[in-house]
Amino acid sequence: MFRPGTDETNVQYEDVLCNFCRRSWDPDDPTRPLIEGHHGSHLCGECLALAYQAVVLENKSDRVAGVACTMCLEERDDECWRSPEFHDAVLCRRCVKQSATALEKDKDYQWTRPKQVEGA
Ligand SMILES: [Zn+2]
Ligand SMILES: [Zn+2]
Repeated sequence: MFRPGTDETNVQYEDVLCNFCRRSWDPDDPTRPLIEGHHGSHLCGECLALAYQAVVLENKSDRVAGVACTMCLEERDDECWRSPEFHDAVLCRRCVKQSATALEKDKDYQWTRPKQVEGA
């Protein structure tokens, strides 16, 4: 998403916000990359890590019937993660996995998916 009032002809890094935590993008921070979804939606690496932990490792689901995924805009039957801060921001399991795979391949960033904790 973009900061309200963003000049669309002159978008700055700080105008680009993660839909899930609403923090602006800092291109100099390699630990917090930003992934672009549909309709100008964005997901940062920190939120992706939280979502991955919850949905993939812990099999939790915050899915609410009738609410589409913020990134792919599809209403899916998958497990979903909802931002604890902004409840209208929802991420489906498919987007979690696709985003994690894409980010790990991106050499500009140092993002790795959370690992299953032994014995947990
Ligand atoms: Zn975020
Ligand atoms: Zn999705």
